[in-house]
Amino acid sequence: MKKKDFKKIRVRIAPSPTGALHIGTARSAFFNYLFAKKNAGSFVLRIEDTDLERSDIKWTQDIIDGLKWLGIKWDEGPDIDGDFGPYKQTQRLDLYEKYLKKLLEENKAYYCFCSQDELEQKRQDQMSRGLAPKYDGKCARLSMQETEKNIADKIPSVIRFRVENKKIKFKDLIRGSVEFDAGLIGDIVIAKDARTPLYNFAVAVDDFEMKISHVIRGEDHIANTPKQILIQDALGFNRPEYGHLPLILAPDRSKMSKRFGSVSVSEYKRQGYLPEAVINFMVLLGWNPGTEKEIFSLSQLEKEFSIEKVQKSGAVFNLQRLDFINGVYIREKSIEKLTELCAPYLVDKKLIKEKDGNYEDGAGESMTDLHLQKIIEISKSRMKKLSDISELSDFFFTKELSFDKEMLRWQNMEDREVLDSLSWSENIMSNISKWNHENIEKELLLASQKFNSEKKYPENNRGYLLWPLRVALSGKKFSPGPFEIAEILGKEKSIKRIKEARGRF
Ligand code: GLU
Repeated sequence: MKKKDFKKIRVRIAPSPTGALHIGTARSAFFNYLFAKKNAGSFVLRIEDTDLERSDIKWTQDIIDGLKWLGIKWDEGPDIDGDFGPYKQTQRLDLYEKYLKKLLEENKAYYCFCSQDELEQKRQDQMSRGLAPKYDGKCARLSMQETEKNIADKIPSVIRFRVENKKIKFKDLIRGSVEFDAGLIGDIVIAKDARTPLYNFAVAVDDFEMKISHVIRGEDHIANTPKQILIQDALGFNRPEYGHLPLILAPDRSKMSKRFGSVSVSEYKRQGYLPEAVINFMVLLGWNPGTEKEIFSLSQLEKEFSIEKVQKSGAVFNLQRLDFINGVYIREKSIEKLTELCAPYLVDKKLIKEKDGNYEDGAGESMTDLHLQKIIEISKSRMKKLSDISELSDFFFTKELSFDKEMLRWQNMEDREVLDSLSWSENIMSNISKWNHENIEKELLLASQKFNSEKKYPENNRGYLLWPLRVALSGKKFSPGPFEIAEILGKEKSIKRIKEARGRF
């Protein structure tokens, strides 16, 4: 006999594999995971794949991969055996059938033969009379003989659950006391047939059979909770506790959609958000630590998280906040690790190529790890996500820069003055023998003073010398400083770029 321990905390995430792992589902998974950790409980992954038309194994894989990438681990699931498996609903059909039969036998459910057209007609009719649409109970009154005859005549049917006209109350861990009037619901379809259960029924059965103690899920499911409670009551199941997480809202407080930021976890991964940043960001979508602190590691969250501090009101999705958090984690990485993480983005943009375990740049010149690390090092302060590296550093890898010559102009300098400035830099740099950024900086700052005094430019305005130089080296309006760039490019390439810039006038 299985040991039945009702007191143990058991929570679950129950995604339907009908699309890529959604950020909202990942957040629910994470809150459940943290709740289980905090309470020495178990966290279960259950795949709700009964909708055969919309479910696809590739999405199950995407969900598993996404959760793993985020570092959210489950104790039981399709890939980890446990006492309450199988963990895919399509493998549990016998169980649903058993309970469906029970409900039918006890006359708590019945066959409904109403056609879609007929139901739609009645819905329209109710709405036109200003009534909230609900099933009118036509088939609820069929006699056993009528039902049997319809089945024998092969009239298409579904199975409906008799919804009692009563108030359903439950205490929500986040929202406090919640009450629904079941009289408004109408008899609900719980299965297409004995082997094809629908969501609310399958969930009620599984949450009971898997001994789920707390159902923590998005508020979009709150209207399903009374239906699930009614089914549990009818089957004599004990009721789990419920906690409904606030909706994730777009910045304009509308429903979160792709327009305001990606909604799938794999997309965040692809763009170069780090998993530790995504979970940190997700937990703040609803959980309020009560301080200004924004950066939380997984192990801190495992200790500090508490469901009582989850807010009721909608959690506004703020991409700038994610970018900020991601930037913090990017800068915490060792340079070796960060380089390893950035390299695939540079390869993808064809800025570098992998060759025999090493990299070479776009011009086919081989690059040492150290060289690549230096490029990442000076770019990382501007990175919000790993994919930013390409745009921030492309000029190091390309042979020819293409940019508008106007960019070389500092303030109101005339063509002749820009040319002078570039020649001055070229001359100074040609005479530097110890090629490192400290030395280049020292020489150029000195030169800048002399240049300004000779040309009667304002004394401390370094832009007259350094701006055209920096643009000549990088081809960009914004970039790291010219000294660091010059060191990495090397003397020969730096001087070549200055000459090319002069050639633009
Ligand atoms: N399968 C449901 C969904 O993906 C989850 C339902 C639940 O958590 O109860 O939305």
